Amino acid sequence: MIYADYNGSAPLCKEVREYLKDRIDNGPYSNPNAIHHLGQKTLIGMENARSLCAKKLGALPKQIIFNSGSTEGISQVFYSLLHNQKGNSGDQIFISGIEHSAVIKCARYYEEDEGYQVSIIPTLKNGQVDVDGLKKMILENKGKVALVAIMAANNETGVVQPYQEIGKICQDANTKLVCDTTQYIGKAPFNFETSLIDFAFVSGHKIGAMTGAGFVLAKDPRLLKPLIIGGGQEKGLRGGTQNYIGFETLAVALDVLEKKLEQLSVLQKERENFEAKLKEKFPVAIMGESSPRLGGTTFISYPGLHGQAVQIELESQDIYVTTSSACSDNEPTTSKVLKAMGIEEDVGRGAVRISLGPCSPDGAYDQIYEALSKAYDKLAKLKSY
Ligand code: PLP
Repeated sequence: MIYADYNGSAPLCKEVREYLKDRIDNGPYSNPNAIHHLGQKTLIGMENARSLCAKKLGALPKQIIFNSGSTEGISQVFYSLLHNQKGNSGDQIFISGIEHSAVIKCARYYEEDEGYQVSIIPTLKNGQVDVDGLKKMILENKGKVALVAIMAANNETGVVQPYQEIGKICQDANTKLVCDTTQYIGKAPFNFETSLIDFAFVSGHKIGAMTGAGFVLAKDPRLLKPLIIGGGQEKGLRGGTQNYIGFETLAVALDVLEKKLEQLSVLQKERENFEAKLKEKFPVAIMGESSPRLGGTTFISYPGLHGQAVQIELESQDIYVTTSSACSDNEPTTSKVLKAMGIEEDVGRGAVRISLGPCSPDGAYDQIYEALSKAYDKLAKLKSY
């Protein structure tokens, strides 16, 4: 079996599984907010995890607000910056056309509910945001942009955005950059302090930690308001008893990933060979090919073949890929990301996402290559009848 849907959810990494076994057997278990000894022990463990996460990502512990994952984090940041703020910080929201629905739906919510105006920053055919287009939009709306939301790496194509350059543009324009780093952190080196990002996000199930655990990175946590009120946990920014074991696994996974960064460049080389071999044999298109991309992500299309048919063929050979982001799997059309990049329907419909991670088995790309070749040969033959 080859699991090639790391961008959907990464399996728990070995070190996290080992940590969990020991943790569950040996405790401590307690409410980390309890004043007794066990509560304090649990709290110390959770705070150590916060400090370690901060250290790994070039942030301060107080800049980390633990939560359930990126959808919650993004919703909290939008709420904090936009709710009842239209008069203060401008009435414009700028988002790229390749954002995850966690961002798009938030922007549309504040448009419908509070009268903000949402504008889409154009995307180039290479999958990167049109930075000059963004500059122009900001210039034309000086002082009116409440926030700019551009992701660091796209979940479908793996294309990496020039987030630092974008951060500088936002800083100069005195607007906030909300950067969805869900797919980026853990797959490439990242330093929050030098990133020029105002708000970034980590989600456990994308980095080999537990699902249902994540955090917001906030340059200035004073800008945040709680979306979940409750009992004052997370310095009053996120009510509810903390998922402390889940948060501990975030620190374990980030520590492991930092040690495996070298392996990511090996993965990238293997991916490049894999893509080159496929291009030699088949008339395939690779989305965002000319752009910097995440090491283990390939979004590939054989024009005229249906992506879902390819996915089913691969599944019959015990290889698990997806046709686009998990949420839009049932849509037999070109994904909105590829549409934003101006990819034609014929190509877009054929796209299959292959995403691996540093814990993928050796030789995974060779096996996928064999299986994909078989699938393409079979489906292309069927198509020509
Ligand atoms: N942003 C991106 C780019 C994603 O890929 C995902 C998950 O698919 C999310 C946000 C949502 O993350 P979570 O599942 O942690 O809510």
